Amino acid sequence: MKKISRRGFGKLSAGSVAGTLAACNSSAASAKSSGPMSRAAELPATKKPRVVVVGGGWAGLSIAQNLRRQRVDLDVVLIERRSTFISHPLSNLWLGGMINLETLTHSFLDAAKAGDYIYLNASLVGLDREKRRAFTDQGYIDYDDIVLASGIDYNYASVGVKDVAAIQMLRTRYPGGFVSGSEHVTLKRKIAEFEKGIFVLNAPQGIFRCAASIYERACILAANFKKRKLPAKVLLIDSRNAPGVNSEGFLAAFEELYKDHLEYMPSSTVQRIDAVAKTIHTDFDDIKFSDGAIYPRVRAARMIEEFGLADPKSAQMEANIDPFNYNIIGDDHTYVTGDSRPMPFSKSASVARGEGSHVAKVIAGRTLGKSVPWVTPESVCYSMVDPDAKQAIVSRSYYQFNQATKQWEFAPKTASTNDRSEDLGRQTFEWSKRQFKDLFS
Ligand SMILES: Cc1cc2nc3c(=O)[nH]c(=O)nc-3n(C[C@H](O)[C@H](O)[C@H](O)COP(=O)(O)OP(=O)(O)OC[C@H]3O[C@@H](n4cnc5c(N)ncnc54)[C@H](O)[C@@H]3O)c2cc1C
Repeated sequence: MKKISRRGFGKLSAGSVAGTLAACNSSAASAKSSGPMSRAAELPATKKPRVVVVGGGWAGLSIAQNLRRQRVDLDVVLIERRSTFISHPLSNLWLGGMINLETLTHSFLDAAKAGDYIYLNASLVGLDREKRRAFTDQGYIDYDDIVLASGIDYNYASVGVKDVAAIQMLRTRYPGGFVSGSEHVTLKRKIAEFEKGIFVLNAPQGIFRCAASIYERACILAANFKKRKLPAKVLLIDSRNAPGVNSEGFLAAFEELYKDHLEYMPSSTVQRIDAVAKTIHTDFDDIKFSDGAIYPRVRAARMIEEFGLADPKSAQMEANIDPFNYNIIGDDHTYVTGDSRPMPFSKSASVARGEGSHVAKVIAGRTLGKSVPWVTPESVCYSMVDPDAKQAIVSRSYYQFNQATKQWEFAPKTASTNDRSEDLGRQTFEWSKRQFKDLFS
């Protein structure tokens, strides 16, 4: 087995893949010819340029699909560790009983068939960028280009929880509900079982997933408690002084619809949490809660840092990429997209979709020796602030790079609609239906 250089090889240590990698390393040392690190993954042979996309979330699915739509004939392999896709967008509506789980759940096989690419149900565990070889728990894959679209992880140190056992307890008892399908399922059960007291939610510092979704979730839970006439309220602790998006629309909903069932606590940052005593310490208060979902500050998926691809200056450990072409600085064959990007765009599915189309063109263009102009992604976030009346609000954001200040800023057509309406409620469902249809059928 050839040696893997220290510079090009990264390893994952988190979660289930850690065990796999440890197993791979030890088996590589003791039995060189066996184990997934030393054999190729079972994929059809190809003479076409191969692009490996890691992560079958909104970004990865979009890139895989769009790569096959380019004029260059590419072999596209999507590596995803989950066996079923469960959507984050719309999941708040499922928590509120407005849709069933089937609406959120889709098959990676259908996506691969519809997009005419290969889906490999595997976890990426190592990367040799010099050799252009990706190591998975199902064997290695040699590639021409690789796109890492692996989403986010939580940073529990940001809420003052650093001890591994305490993190595990907090993650298990009060999952944030912004990363995995299991978190959504736990949250749904918690809401159904909740009878009285304070159900705590929080909006963390930094750019978090879908700027509107935590405020929408507060409305959905408050509507549930109101409907069931529970002596209960949602406490939403926000490190900002107002909702970061659709501020007017959310504050109106909190005040007009949920006065008795929702308390909004702005300008308060969670400093420490005691999961056993069920107490949150903010910079001003100590708050006892009955149940809740704790949303730590988000960071780029841990693999980005562990493969040496993070920008050391990034507080959220995001990738060190060329913001217009999405390749790692100094490496035209490794790309990072989706919520691991460093640009201050909304961490949203719609942005991930737009980027998918752009990055696919960049990769195909480079194969032909052509460059592709950057276009702004569009962030669209509908928020069902009144689930009973099926009324929503919406925000649409676009971006531009200011060459004078060297900063990103909102483009002029960015706009929010804060008057809740049934029409926007209908559009919420139409938007998601279009997305699911395009990706999976
Ligand atoms: C409650 C909620 C509501 C939201 N509502 C909206 C909305 O209305 N509109 C909107 O635009 N956005 C919304 N979002 C945001 C949106 O879901 C995210 O921005 C989007 O999922 C980001 O896509 P991604 O592909 O970067 O990450 P993800 O969707 O998280 O995908 C990352 C994928 O990578 C896989 N992966 C990670 N590591 C590995 C590995 N080592 N090997 C193999 N696979 C791996 C993961 O399993 C995962 O499938 C919402 C999010 C939440 C949580």
